[in-house]
Amino acid sequence: MNVLISADMEGISGVTSPADVHPGTPGWDHFRKIMTADVNAAVEGFYEAGARNIVVNDSHANMHNVVYDLLDPRATLISGRHKKHCMVEGVTKSTDAVAFIGYHTAAGQQGIMSHTYSGDIYNAVWLNGEVCSEGYMNALFAAELGVPVVLVSGDDLTIEDAKRYAPDAGFAAVKRCVDRFTAECIAPEKTFEIIKSAARDGLSRLRKPEPLKGPFTFRIEFAAANQVIAATHIPGVQQTGTREVTYTCEKMEQALRCFEVVTILGNTSRDAIYG
Ligand SMILES: [Zn+2]
Repeated sequence: MNVLISADMEGISGVTSPADVHPGTPGWDHFRKIMTADVNAAVEGFYEAGARNIVVNDSHANMHNVVYDLLDPRATLISGRHKKHCMVEGVTKSTDAVAFIGYHTAAGQQGIMSHTYSGDIYNAVWLNGEVCSEGYMNALFAAELGVPVVLVSGDDLTIEDAKRYAPDAGFAAVKRCVDRFTAECIAPEKTFEIIKSAARDGLSRLRKPEPLKGPFTFRIEFAAANQVIAATHIPGVQQTGTREVTYTCEKMEQALRCFEVVTILGNTSRDAIYG
């Protein structure tokens, strides 16, 4: 069985603050080891449930976080950016299952460091009228290829979000959100066990998903008007409000890739002080 693990960082065991996840800082250097341990717990659970080809796709920031020499040797690692399918690079029609480790809630929602792709340029993102977290859009992309989500780890609110797009998955709530940068954290020794057993359970319930039919319409509310102008350089991306754009694609793959470009342009037009 082939399993792809997409590993983000805000939902990793013990992570609560931007200082824990900002590449190059001492806090990040500490928590990337915990991130690797969360990933390894999932690898172990999947291996016990029969997976033999396990690929980890590093999905946070510069996508260069998982500590290579601490990785479980039963997995391989996609490290670095950019890549065509971003957080779900490596998911193909021959993938049997996908897992989301260290995930978080959507832009504008409560949850530890909630955001969708970019930490500060989006107030809110909707996909076909639904609040759109990274988990939701990545799950729809995987479903288009016939691949189910079998495991999600993160805070308790991320798990609530995951229940709507992956009801059969194994869930590993590693902390309870108190506020956006505050959590009640379970000790790592225990979260590794929680993740491992959720991985094992989720993979043993493996069931092909029913792909959602297109079209896929993204509606995006930016924090500032200048980001709208930048995003409308993309053909098909329309301004629908002072701070809002909308676009529609027939396939989720196109919609996901377009969202990546909107984010890149939005970020390049952002000012460090004025936004
Ligand atoms: Zn993320």
